[in-house]
Amino acid sequence: MHQVTLIPGDGIGPEITAAMKRVVEATGVDIAWDVQEAGEAVMESEGTPLPDRVIDSIKRNKVAIKGPITTPVGTGFRSINVALRKALDLYINLRPAKTYGADRYGQMPDARPIDIVIFRENTEDLYAGIEFEAGSDDAAKLRSCLAELGGKVRDDAAISIKPISEFGTRRIVRAAFEYALANGRKKVTCVHKANIMKHTDGLFLQIAREIAEEYAEHGIEFEDAIVDAACMRLVMDPSQFDVMVMANLYGDILSDVCAGLVGGLGIAPGANIGDNEALFEPVHGSAPKRAGQGIANPTALILSSAMMLRHLGESEAAASIENAVADVITKRETVTYDLGGKASTEEYADAIIAAL
Ligand code: NAD
Repeated sequence: MHQVTLIPGDGIGPEITAAMKRVVEATGVDIAWDVQEAGEAVMESEGTPLPDRVIDSIKRNKVAIKGPITTPVGTGFRSINVALRKALDLYINLRPAKTYGADRYGQMPDARPIDIVIFRENTEDLYAGIEFEAGSDDAAKLRSCLAELGGKVRDDAAISIKPISEFGTRRIVRAAFEYALANGRKKVTCVHKANIMKHTDGLFLQIAREIAEEYAEHGIEFEDAIVDAACMRLVMDPSQFDVMVMANLYGDILSDVCAGLVGGLGIAPGANIGDNEALFEPVHGSAPKRAGQGIANPTALILSSAMMLRHLGESEAAASIENAVADVITKRETVTYDLGGKASTEEYADAIIAAL
């Protein structure tokens, strides 16, 4: 039996989690779910949106799956999702984007299937949240340091810092190449803006080029692409990409672009992986407008559970879930509103279970 931490999340989280649990259980894989609530719901009773018991449970079980958790915009507590990745040093954010029959490209002449895997660095970059409020004493101190170093910043500016380290870059780029090697992938594309951010993105690119040389003898091709051009190429012809590796913020944005290419956020799964623990979750958020209606698409979380099963060594069950998803989406008889259907979350889960 596998022990797995289950964080239902909020918004549409509990609804899609219930559907995902039924699908996993229908595969016959024996899982003991260690349910841990987090987010705004526990803020009042426990004084924090991320109690230590949640982290302790993931450390104990090594594997977790979660629904989305709302982050207040502008004010309030910082993202629980980011805090979890930081607390467990889950430095790989792996986000596959694959054609399951829901993409519009499939309807275009000459369209080839999309099968992209994004490796997003998960701990550094502007996403690390090192920020200084406009008008604060800290921003003033930083501004004067910057002035001494020759950097000019306006008095009324808020400031954000973009750390990119050699250590952080090496481990994510190596993870991308190791994945390519283990999964018979042909090409790794490094996405960056090194023409403008010469020291941060420049370092990322330099290390990627260096590591690429080691893998050239294994037949893995390497290319680099400036982030804006990469976005254009993705929209024009996504099938030209294979494995992609990039810093945190570009990965956040490009993985939503890729989700859109294959049919939307409702079907985009993901994993956060460190040296000791792995946390599986959809790319999408808590979709507050859809919460409580029983209509959200649970596919992203269901495909995340397939990634989790593969990580647990249950490859057959993982493949059967992926095949069932492809089956149900291609038929389009029982799909949720975002894929043009009328099925509820539960009816869709029933269709997946029937197709298993
Ligand atoms: P969102 O992903 O929740 O929603 C974007 C759009 O996609 C909405 O129109 C929504 O209805 C739709 N959508 C998303 N998931 C869907 C699904 N499964 N089925 C059908 N439609 C779906 O993004 P947002 O509105 O920017 O964010 C809402 C909240 O979620 C914010 O508080 C944000 O911080 C949080 N968030 C959490 C995570 C996470 O838990 N890892 C990730 C992203 C955003």
